[in-house]
Amino acid sequence: MNHIEPSPPAHRDAPPSTCSLRQGIGSHALVVTALVKQVPKGDHSGRLDADGRLERAGAVAEMNPWCRRAVAQAVRLARETGGRSTAITMGPPAAVDVLREALAWGADDAVQLSDPALAGSDCLVTARALAATIRLLDDPPDLILVGNSSVDGSTGAVGAMLAELLGLPFTGPVLTLEPVDGRLRTTVQYDTGTESVTIDLPAVVAVAERSCDPAKAPADTWPPPDTVRQVTTADLPEAPWGLPASPTKVAQVHPAPLTRNPVIFRGHLQSQVDRALTELTARGCFKPHPTTSAPLTTPPYGRRTAGPAEKPAVASAPGEQAAAEVVVLVGAGPVEGTRALLGTAAALAAEIGGSVTAVTTVEGDRELGRWGADSVVVVDGEEPRAVARGLTGWLNGRQVWAVLGAALPWDREVLARLAVTSDAGLMSDLVSLSAKDGRLSGLKPSGGGTLAEIVSRGTPQIATLRTGLLPLRTPRVDRPLELHALHVEPDTAITRTERRTGDDGDALDRAEVVIGVGRGVPPDKYDELEPVRALLNAELAATRKVTDQGWLPHGRQIGITGRSVAPRMYLAVGLSGSLNHLAGAGRAGTLVAINTDPAAEIFAHCDVGLVADWQEVMPYLVDGLRSCVSG
Ligand SMILES: Cc1cc2nc3c(=O)[nH]c(=O)nc-3n(C[C@H](O)[C@H](O)[C@H](O)COP(=O)(O)OP(=O)(O)OC[C@H]3O[C@@H](n4cnc5c(N)ncnc54)[C@H](O)[C@@H]3O)c2cc1C
Repeated sequence: MNHIEPSPPAHRDAPPSTCSLRQGIGSHALVVTALVKQVPKGDHSGRLDADGRLERAGAVAEMNPWCRRAVAQAVRLARETGGRSTAITMGPPAAVDVLREALAWGADDAVQLSDPALAGSDCLVTARALAATIRLLDDPPDLILVGNSSVDGSTGAVGAMLAELLGLPFTGPVLTLEPVDGRLRTTVQYDTGTESVTIDLPAVVAVAERSCDPAKAPADTWPPPDTVRQVTTADLPEAPWGLPASPTKVAQVHPAPLTRNPVIFRGHLQSQVDRALTELTARGCFKPHPTTSAPLTTPPYGRRTAGPAEKPAVASAPGEQAAAEVVVLVGAGPVEGTRALLGTAAALAAEIGGSVTAVTTVEGDRELGRWGADSVVVVDGEEPRAVARGLTGWLNGRQVWAVLGAALPWDREVLARLAVTSDAGLMSDLVSLSAKDGRLSGLKPSGGGTLAEIVSRGTPQIATLRTGLLPLRTPRVDRPLELHALHVEPDTAITRTERRTGDDGDALDRAEVVIGVGRGVPPDKYDELEPVRALLNAELAATRKVTDQGWLPHGRQIGITGRSVAPRMYLAVGLSGSLNHLAGAGRAGTLVAINTDPAAEIFAHCDVGLVADWQEVMPYLVDGLRSCVSG
C-alpha cells in the first residue's frame, strides 16, 4: 500500500485562528485531520441533476460551512499543542480549492482524493474512501474532525461511518473541544441543550456550525494547487467505488408538491385582516384544542391522509419470529416523533405483511404498542457504538426489512454505524417513506424546491427520518407487547456528564401556536410581536438566517437543520418560506403567512396569506384577534 509522507510543517503566515487560543493545553502534540467538502455556494445548494447527482456545472463552489469550522478547530488544536494539521478532501479536480484555502488558513498539509471512479459515491462509499485515505497517512491522526453536516447532501452520517470503519469512538456536533489528560473534553449541542462529553483519543468528532468562527481566507492568499498532494483510487486498497458500489442512490428528482390550498389576501389592511380572521375562525384555529383525542394530521408529502396505525397483516405468535420486521429505534427525541415513526413503521409493515419491533433503552413504555409496535426490545446500554454493535449481532439471522430512526444525533450515529456493519448504506434525513415494489422509497428536500427520491438496495434498508413531517396516526387500542432484552457492552471510550437543557426546552414542541420569524423581522422589533404572541399564547421560532445572525438561539430554529414542530397554527412572519424551513413546520394544522413580497415561496405553501408589511398589519391583527380569542 502506498503511504503518504508527511510534508514539512508550513511556514507561511497564516491568519490567526479566531477560535479561543490557549497555549500549552495538555501534554500531547495532537495530529489532527480535518475532512473538508466542496459544496455549491448559495441557498439552492444541493440541486440535483436528472441523474440525481449534484449539479456542479456553472455553480460557484466553496468550502462547506461546517467544514470551515472543522478546519479552524484543527488548525487551532494543532498549534496549541505543537502538533500538525492535515486537511483532506474527496472530490473532483476543482475541489483542490478548498484545500488551498485550508492551507492558507494554516493547515500544515493537504491531501486530495480525486478520481472519476468515485463519481456517484453515497455516504457509505465516501466514508470508506476517506477511511482508506486516512490509513495512508504515515502520521496516524489522534483526532479526525468532520463538519457536522454538509449543505448539499445533508446526511450528517459520514463522521459516524468513518468512526465505525476506523474502529474509533465518535461524538458531535460539538461546540467546544479541548484536550485534557490525553482525552478530548467536548460540549455536544442538541436541539434541547448541551452535554459535556469526554472522549478517548483517537476519535472522530463532528464540529457544530456555531463552534467557532469559520476558516475563511481570501483567494489571493491561497497557495498554488501543486501544494496539495494527490491520491487516486489506485493508491487505495482495491475496492469497488462510486455509484456501482453505493447501496443507496437518488432514483428521481421531483418538484415538491403543493399540499395546501392557499387563500391569499392583499390590499386594504383592515379588510385583509378581517377576511383572514374569518377564514381562520372557520378553520377552528381559535377553538380550545381537544387534548384527549389524537389528531389526524395531513402529511405535506406523500399520502394525504393517515388512518389508524394499522394492525400488521401477519401477526407473530409470542416467541415466533415475524416474516419481515420493520425495526424502529426509539431514541430520546420528542415523544411525538416516536409516535410518528412507529405509525409510519406500522403502515409499512402492513403493506409488506410484517410486524414492527421497537428498540428502546427505556423499560416499560406502554405507549409504544398503541403507536404501532408489536414487540419491544429493551437494550441495557445507551452508547451508540455499543447499541450499534448489539443490534448488528441481533439482526443476524432475522428477517429485518428496514431499520428506521429519527434524524437526531443518537439515532443517526447508531444507524450510521449499523449501515457500515451491515454494509447496507443509509438513506438519511428523509421527510416521507413509502413501500414501492416491496422496497423502501424515501423523499428528501434536495434544493431548488425539489424532492429527491432515495432508494436503497441494502439489507436491511436503513433510514433516518425528519419525524416532524410524518403523519401522526390515531393510536390503536392497547395490546399486550412481546418484550425482549438485548444486552450491550459498555463503551468506556466515552464519559458523559452534565446535561443542560436550554431555556427553550420542549416549549416549542408543546406549543399550540408558533410564530416563526424570518429575516424580515429585525430583532429590535420583536417586542412589537409581543401582543399577538401573548394573545395566542404562542412560542417564538425562527428561520436559520435569524439564528445564524444570533438574533434567536439555535434551539428556536425550525427546519431541516433545526427542529420540527406540529402546532395547531404556525404564523410565518417576514420569512420567505424555503423548503428547508418548511420541512420543520409542514405538520402545522394551519399555516398563516405575512410577507410584503407577493412572489414569496411561503404563499405557495400556506393556508392563509396576507401580502403586507408585518409592522403595519400588526395593530389590525391585535385588534381582530382580541375578539377572536375572547369570543
Ligand atoms: C442545507 C441547508 C439547510 C438549511 N436549513 C434550514 C433550516 O433548518 N431552517 C431554515 O429556516 N432555513 C434553513 N436553511 C436556509 C433556507 O434555505 C433559507 O435561506 C432561510 O430559511 C431563509 O430565511 P428567511 O426566510 O428568514 O430570510 P429571507 O430569505 O431573507 O426572507 C425574508 C423574507 O422576509 C420578507 N420581508 C422583509 N421585510 C418584511 C416586512 N417588513 N414585512 C413582511 N415581510 C417582510 C421578505 O419579502 C422575504 O420573503 C437551510 C439552507 C441550506 C442550504
